[in-house]
Amino acid sequence: MPLALYDTWSRTLRPFTPLRPDHVGLYCCGPTVYDHAHIGNLRTYVFEDVLRRALALNGYTVRHVVNITDVGHLVSDADDGEDKMEKGSRRTGESAWAIAERYTAAFQRDWRALNLLEPTLWCRATDHIAEQIDFIADLERNGYTYRTADGIYFDTAKQDDYGYLARLAVTGLQAGKRVAVGDKQRATDFALWKFSAPGSTRQMEWASPWGVGFPGWHIECSAMSAKYLGPWFDIHCGGEDHIAVHHSNEIAQTQARHGTRLANFWLHGHFLMLDAGKMAKSGGDFVRLQTLIDRGVDPLAYRYLCLSAHYRSSLRFNMEALDAAQAALDRLRRAYRQWPEGGAPDAGAVARFNAEVDQDLNLPRALAVLWEVVRSDLPTSTRRATVDCFDSVLGLRLADWREDVATIPASITLLAMQRDEARAAKEWSEADRLREQLRAEGWQVEDSANGQVLRPLD
Ligand SMILES: [Zn+2]
Repeated sequence: MPLALYDTWSRTLRPFTPLRPDHVGLYCCGPTVYDHAHIGNLRTYVFEDVLRRALALNGYTVRHVVNITDVGHLVSDADDGEDKMEKGSRRTGESAWAIAERYTAAFQRDWRALNLLEPTLWCRATDHIAEQIDFIADLERNGYTYRTADGIYFDTAKQDDYGYLARLAVTGLQAGKRVAVGDKQRATDFALWKFSAPGSTRQMEWASPWGVGFPGWHIECSAMSAKYLGPWFDIHCGGEDHIAVHHSNEIAQTQARHGTRLANFWLHGHFLMLDAGKMAKSGGDFVRLQTLIDRGVDPLAYRYLCLSAHYRSSLRFNMEALDAAQAALDRLRRAYRQWPEGGAPDAGAVARFNAEVDQDLNLPRALAVLWEVVRSDLPTSTRRATVDCFDSVLGLRLADWREDVATIPASITLLAMQRDEARAAKEWSEADRLREQLRAEGWQVEDSANGQVLRPLD
C-alpha cells in the first residue's frame, strides 16, 4: 500500500505521488514571532515533522521550507488593527527587530526540544520584501488589485472559485453584509501592501511602487514558497485555522500570478483543546513548552502525547493526559535500555507499523504496534532493532536517552539553555562566556546534530 494522505483541497484520502520522481517539496507556515509559541501551535509542527519522516520512510528526499513571519501579520484578519510586531514592540519597549530575533530564537529552541528535524530552509518575510513587491506588481499587471486610502488590495471578485479550499459560500458573505470592511470592496478581499500611516514612521517599513509601507501577511507565503519550491509543488501544510483565510488567499494570489493552486496536496493539523481553567491561563499567560519544562515535564513527553492522537482529530490537553504520556515514554525508555544491540528488525512488525504510518499518518495505531512489540516474546535484540526502525518516524530519541540526564542540576540546565539561546541569536562571545561558566561549574558542553549534550568534567 503506498502512502495515502488526506488532502483538504479535494476532501479525499489520495495516494501520494510526487510531482518529480523521488523528491518532495514541502512548505509549512511558520510562526509569527511577536510572542512565544503556544503548545497548540507546536502540535501542528509535530504533525508536520511526522509527515516529513513518513516521506523519508517512503524513500523521498524532502525539501522542507518553513517561513518566519516577522512583519505584516495584522492583529485582525479583517485587515485592520496593528501589525503584530509593532504591537509587540509597544508592549515590551524593545525594537520590532529585536523582538523578532528573540522570539525566532525561542521558537527554534522549542523546535529542537521537540526533536523536530531541522528544515532545509528557514525563510524570513523581511528578507524577501523584493520578492513580495514583484509578486504584487504582477498581480496588479494582471488586473487583480485595487488601491484604497490605506493600501493595495486583492480583488477576490475576479475569481469564480475564490475560497474553494474552505468551501466558502462567498456570495453569502457578500450579500447583506454586516462585516466591517473599511475601505475594502468586500469582506473577502485582503491587503497585499499596507501604507505606513501618514505622518508616522514605522520601525519596519519599505519603499514600494505604491508608497512606503509593509506587505500583508498572506503574500509572503506565496512569494517564498514559489521562490524556493516553484509555483506548483507537492505539499503545503498548516493548522486548520489557516484554511478559511490564509491558505485561501495564498491560493488566490498564486492562481492570479502563476495559474496554479500552489500545492498538489493541502494538509491541515487540528487543534489542541485546552481544558478550561488550570492550564489554559496561568497568570494571564498561555501554555508554552517552557511552562511544561518548568513543571518537570520532558518535552518529548509532549511529543508522545501529540503522537497519541491522529493529526486530524482534536486532542484534549490537560496535565493528566500529559502525565500519562510521560509515564508511557518512561516505560518505553526503561524497556528499551535493557535490550542489547546487534539484532535485526522483525520484518512483519516493521511492515505493520509502516502500513499504519502510510495510512494518512495513523500514529495512534502505529503506537499500538510499537507496544505489541515491546510486550512480545521476540528476542530482546530483535525488539530493540525493530523499535529503532519505528523511532525514525516517532522521533523519541530512544537510543540517545540516558537516565542520568535527570541528575543535571537545574542551574546548569539553565546556563546551557542560555548558551543555546545566545548561539541561536549568533551572540558568539556570550555563548563562549557561558561555556566557560559551565566549565567552571564542572560541566562540559558539546554540540551535536541533536542539540547540546552536557557531561560532567572528570
Ligand atoms: Zn503561510
